[in-house]
Amino acid sequence: MTRKPVIAGNWKMYKLIDESVDTALNLKPLVANATHCDVIIAPVFTALKSVADRIEGSNILVAGQDCSTQNTFGAHTGEITASMLLDAGCSHVIIGHSERRQFYGETNESVNHKAKAAIGAGLTAIVCVGEHLAERESGDAENVVSEQLSGGLEGLTANDMERIIIAYEPVWAIGTGKTATPEQAQEMHSCIRRFVSKDHGSEVAAKVRILYGGSVKPENISELMLQADIDGALVGGASLDAESFAKIVNYR
Ligand code: PEP
Repeated sequence: MTRKPVIAGNWKMYKLIDESVDTALNLKPLVANATHCDVIIAPVFTALKSVADRIEGSNILVAGQDCSTQNTFGAHTGEITASMLLDAGCSHVIIGHSERRQFYGETNESVNHKAKAAIGAGLTAIVCVGEHLAERESGDAENVVSEQLSGGLEGLTANDMERIIIAYEPVWAIGTGKTATPEQAQEMHSCIRRFVSKDHGSEVAAKVRILYGGSVKPENISELMLQADIDGALVGGASLDAESFAKIVNYR
């Protein structure tokens, strides 16, 4: 099964609108020949429309960093629906990032509602999972990730799963400079494919793309991408600079 790699940049809460547009425009020519993978950037909400408009027609796709569990207009102050992201030019949305789980009360249940809302609106959801250091050290990592997947992807059909990308991001590797070794990442990615197979069948599992995230840099991407079950990367810090992100996109 060949799976098209995905290299996605999560810009987190960085960059004003002009800076976001500048970075996207700088990135555009640097990744213009990258037909080997899907290239995605996730600017802050306020910059989405400006960025999407300025890179329209390029091979760069745009993602939101979160969406509401609700998918209808309504009295939900501060929330943004998946269809509003689509309206702003997004094709993807990141859901369940560890920073949202850790600091903003995201649960496997809310991830599940958001994933369904995203799919319902026609977006592809990048669903993040990953264990904390203490969970890894106590031998619990696989259980934690398995529960995040079964809860987060509960009730999704095989069709729905075509609009799911999974990002494995061990929390201890995010923004710490401490990357999981390619072997550690591969081990969990292969477990994830097994968990998906158990819940959604082997065909879905063979097709689903599983990204690694956690201190990915131009220096370590090639080695990670050599692993059989690593289908791309979700990149934080190293995606903020167009040249560094382009080097990751052009890893081969
Ligand atoms: C992330 O934000 O998803 C991430 C993996 O960050 P970093 O690459 O900076 O570790």
